[in-house]
Amino acid sequence: MKSMIVLLGPPGAGKGTQGEKLQTELGYVRLSTGDMLREAVRNGTELGKLAKTYMDSGALVPNDVIIGLMKDKIQSLGKVPGIIFDGFPRTVEQAEALDKELDVDLALNFDVADEALIERLTQRRSCPNPDCQAVYHLVYNPPKCEGKCDKCGSELYQRDDDKAETVKNRLKTYHEKTQPLVDYYTKAGKICTIPGIGDIDEIFAKVKKAIQ
Ligand code: ADP
Ligand code: ADP
Ligand code: ZN
Repeated sequence: MKSMIVLLGPPGAGKGTQGEKLQTELGYVRLSTGDMLREAVRNGTELGKLAKTYMDSGALVPNDVIIGLMKDKIQSLGKVPGIIFDGFPRTVEQAEALDKELDVDLALNFDVADEALIERLTQRRSCPNPDCQAVYHLVYNPPKCEGKCDKCGSELYQRDDDKAETVKNRLKTYHEKTQPLVDYYTKAGKICTIPGIGDIDEIFAKVKKAIQ
């Protein structure tokens, strides 16, 4: 099984949904920079205060901040069998920094058109519990009990940046800054593109095949 895996794809492509399954079903450690930043915002740390202004506008947090954060995190983990990187790297500079830390085995690229992403993001609901981080969709993946996380019972919330105006900016940022990574990992011979539309479990079956 591949051990160091990067999840690529636009906001709303299903990185969190599939990453969570890789974590719970196959035992990978999942590192989500978005979740780390949201926790910092909630805790009111210096990092959180800085990150919030970028996140609220749909821009990326500066490379040096994110690279420092991830380096510390990777080093603190020590030796683990496998890591899923969810939402990192998001720029070529971040990808080059990651390559200095470890060997990426595979970049799984979830392909979803922008029109579908807007509907997904504006109807996404998230679990605020940092130890859970489950995501739901009001129509496509609703919680069993309305407004409550199936896994931990926390009250679900809508992320500030999942409102329509910010979503459009995030998609623009993705096309400008993150999409070039598809080329980056293609040149490295590490890309596997999976259509991100359709049944969540069917997509996961393709993910499992790709990581064998
Ligand atoms: P990302 O982490 O890439 O931003 P998420 O995994 O959070 O994406 O998914 C975005 C939204 O789309 C969530 O509301 C999620 O429940 C929903 N979603 C994920 N995968 C699918 C799918 N295959 N079909 C329909 N909706 C999906
Ligand atoms: P999604 O996958 O749904 O787009 P994330 O939770 O991954 O959202 O990220 C939310 C926000 O956090 C991004 O819009 C960006 O402002 C910031 N962020 C997350 N990861 C990174 C990163 N690797 N580099 C820069 N900014 C990031
Ligand atoms: Zn939860």
